[in-house]
Amino acid sequence: MRSIALINQKGGVGKTTTVVNLGAALAEAGQRVLVVDLDPQANMTLHLGLEDPPDGVSVYGVLVEGTPLVEAIRPTATPGLLAVRSHLDLSGAELELANAFGRETILRDALNAWREESKRSGKGEPVDFVLFDCPPSLGLLSVNGLAAASEVFVAVQTEFFALQGMSKLVEVVQLIQRRLHPELAITGIVPCLYDNRLRLAREVLGEVRKHFPGRVFRQAIGANVKLAEAPSFGKTILEYAPDSNGARDYRQLAQEVLAQSAGNAPGEEREVFIPRPPEEPAPTQQEASTPEPADS
Ligand code: ADP
Ligand code: MG
Repeated sequence: MRSIALINQKGGVGKTTTVVNLGAALAEAGQRVLVVDLDPQANMTLHLGLEDPPDGVSVYGVLVEGTPLVEAIRPTATPGLLAVRSHLDLSGAELELANAFGRETILRDALNAWREESKRSGKGEPVDFVLFDCPPSLGLLSVNGLAAASEVFVAVQTEFFALQGMSKLVEVVQLIQRRLHPELAITGIVPCLYDNRLRLAREVLGEVRKHFPGRVFRQAIGANVKLAEAPSFGKTILEYAPDSNGARDYRQLAQEVLAQSAGNAPGEEREVFIPRPPEEPAPTQQEASTPEPADS
């Protein structure tokens, strides 16, 4: 089982869209997937049309009230895709848990208990993938997601400030590695809302690839209006617009994530951008494709 926390302390970069649609695309590819909404804003919950009934068990119950994870899991309209929803109550959880013993690992313990129970009853691993949709902050909720995950995917929007926040984020992941979870690693970077007509977007993507060689997925998720529309219908992109570019991008991303399980680092086989030594400025895509003069 792979458990992956989708993080970025910035909001609006594509974390929730990626959790929902990558989850759906993995399920479509035959994987059993659980997605967990850790954001009090509950965007993932709305995106999957799971907001009703309002009083059902949510991730708040698991984190604050000690409800077993299995009681919070519900099916979605997508076969193979299960979900744990969030609730606005979760916004108080960080305070409510401030003095709780082992507060950073409540989710990890709940996930492990579910896995143990499943194995004990002879069913083996309950799912193939767990994706945690983290809130846009690096507080206790995100820390719970990171501690429960074995891997971190970072959603980045290919705009000017993309790299600025990433050093902070890498620091937090390293801190969690040291204190809570030595095996935790950033294993994937998902470029989101990418517009390859914009030179800036291409340059930023080049910079991100340079800083994180072998970790940036080759499939960037293009800006696509269908992806923006799908949440208001409570549907994944594969239900809402299965032939859209957005659906195609997430299906392709899912294939890369599956290739990773088989040992292929993101973007490794068909890498277009060739990273240069850090001291050189990043070339634009155009420069990268023109041959170097013989004397350089
Ligand atoms: P986050 O979870 O990081 O805050 P979201 O996934 O909620 O970000 O995305 C922020 C907004 O951008 C949402 O309205 C979403 O529908 C929209 N969005 C995300 N990805 C795309 C995309 N590739 N193309 C168009 N709109 C997108
Ligand atoms: Mg979100």
